[in-house]
Amino acid sequence: MKFQVVTIFPELVAHYCDESILGRGQKNKSIEVHPINLRDFSDSKHKQVDDTPYGGGAGMVLQAEPLYNALKSLDAIPFSKVDGLTKVKKVFNGSLGKKKRTILMSPRGRQFDQKIARQWSKLDELTIVCGRYEGIDQRVIDHMVDEEISIGPYVLAGGELGAMTIIEAVSRLVPGVLGNAESLKDETHNSLVEEDGVESEYPQYTKPADFKGWKVPEVLLSGDHKKIQEWRQKQSKK
Ligand code: SAH
Repeated sequence: MKFQVVTIFPELVAHYCDESILGRGQKNKSIEVHPINLRDFSDSKHKQVDDTPYGGGAGMVLQAEPLYNALKSLDAIPFSKVDGLTKVKKVFNGSLGKKKRTILMSPRGRQFDQKIARQWSKLDELTIVCGRYEGIDQRVIDHMVDEEISIGPYVLAGGELGAMTIIEAVSRLVPGVLGNAESLKDETHNSLVEEDGVESEYPQYTKPADFKGWKVPEVLLSGDHKKIQEWRQKQSKK
């Protein structure tokens, strides 16, 4: 699966995604992460990508034009938003031949959760636009992305943390990214996606069995798998 992140801080995204499970996933070709520098798509002399808001007010707003140039070059503008092609969307839901989605990080958007992560892990391509400053020209929202997505009810300074959050949550579900697919069973929040899934995972312990007098529950040391299973189920429910 391919992720494209449009940002004015491409290095920030690259550094994070080159480490740990995302780094491994890229090396073994399960995922690709492409940070795209928005400034490369500015036609202005000083690579400007923001300007003051019409009607006045505080701060700067990201301009529509560099974002349009970037998304166009990535072939990431949804068909549903391309003039005259409204009907095509019903058939292809994205660009021709590929399962694609283009989202804008925004505190006003639909809140991201495990269910969405599961759905998006089946896409071929996810393009994420990161806002900065006071926000983004409304014409980007109206004409260039599928939807706005929030990672929670608070306001951050930019969309990069959200983009990395989404990439990590989605990538863990892409086959080949996690070393051990068993880790995906019995996970916290699986109840959002599976009828018999757990809402939270049971408590985990590792060596030593006694640390400062804080002991690992006896049952986990018993070797009795049936009892351990029962204990874990009970703890999950609790
Ligand atoms: N003035 C705007 C907030 C701008 S914050 C407002 O009141 O709605 C700057 C950028 O950070 C946003 O464009 C968005 O891309 C990102 N951002 C901030 N909070 C976010 C959140 N909770 N989820 C996703 N993106 C967020």
